[in-house]
Amino acid sequence: MPVPFSDLQLQYRTIKSEIDNAIAAVIRDNAFIRGPYVEAFEREFAEAVEIAHCVSCASGTDALYLAMAALDVRPGDEVITSAHSWISTSAMITHAGANVIFADTDGATFTIDPAAIEAAITPQTAGIIPVHLYGQPADMDAIMAIARKHGLWVIEDCAQAHLARIKGKQVGTFGNAAAYSFYPGKNLGAMGDAGAVVTNDSALAERMAMLARHGGLTKHQHRIEGINSRLDGMQAAILSAKLPHLREWTNARQDAAKIYDAALGQIEDVVVPQVGPDRKHVYHLYTLRHPRRDALAAHLNAHGVQTAINYPIALPFLEVYRRLAARPEQFPNAHRDQSRILSLPLFAEITRAQQDEVMERIIKFR
Ligand SMILES: *Cc1c(COP(=O)(O)O)cnc(C)c1O
Repeated sequence: MPVPFSDLQLQYRTIKSEIDNAIAAVIRDNAFIRGPYVEAFEREFAEAVEIAHCVSCASGTDALYLAMAALDVRPGDEVITSAHSWISTSAMITHAGANVIFADTDGATFTIDPAAIEAAITPQTAGIIPVHLYGQPADMDAIMAIARKHGLWVIEDCAQAHLARIKGKQVGTFGNAAAYSFYPGKNLGAMGDAGAVVTNDSALAERMAMLARHGGLTKHQHRIEGINSRLDGMQAAILSAKLPHLREWTNARQDAAKIYDAALGQIEDVVVPQVGPDRKHVYHLYTLRHPRRDALAAHLNAHGVQTAINYPIALPFLEVYRRLAARPEQFPNAHRDQSRILSLPLFAEITRAQQDEVMERIIKFR
């Protein structure tokens, strides 16, 4: 039995009428840009994240850019982020006009090591972008203490971590602002590109909204030079239809992760995801480590079990950052992990039989 890495069609079938009605309503109301569906989703998402303001935009990538631009990042500023993330995190630092400074992960959780942040701070450091990678919160207590001590802003990259928590407090509510992605495969996914920035700071929220909407909130009143980064009405209505299911989908991901943990945690050479103390992981990805990762991936793929590598090259070692001349010993954890990590099929609708198939194949791997 082949097991897909994820199955978006299956999720659609479980809520088909809700989605179809949402799309039909947007067309009926001609509410393609801004309008009631976008405003409603912004209110609902802010409520779900337990934060004051949600500014919707065109993607998670834009959300990172908007937050940095609104925080007035300047040329010469340094922004510290994790060596292990998706390219958007670091690329937007450059696009916002600052210099990218990578810090290594902690070797256990795939999230940024606070000690490595501390070591990377210079008089030019302006801010920190921790990434709640795979759905696991970074160590926000330690990161916020460093930020306060050095007077730095913090933007949380929550693109993979909708509803994740630390000691009951939601990710996205620790820093100055937080970026969310609603790329179709994310835990809350649109049917196209979509994103949002959230914050408790109303002045910052207004600036981010202006930047996303041509620099002004009233037509023809351009107060700053903005960009065009809008969530469209169709995606907003789809996201509003899906949002009420997010809690239940998240629980299903966590249950599926427990099943993998119990069976795979016993196997020699397999390191199941390590979760830091007091952190509530939402398992956007279930990523294990294995010393013979490529052979294991080939074995699984040969038996119809789809896997993924998130990501095969850690950020400092990508061609785009050749200018930084990164050496493996500067980022030992991120560098080691890039050849060990393997993400298994995990989605809210995955069946026990599908998980059994994945686990059997891993148990039989020699
Ligand atoms: C998906 C993702 C982004 C970018 O989101 P898009 O909506 O695809 O632009 C940024 N950071 C991380 C960690 C992501 O996983």
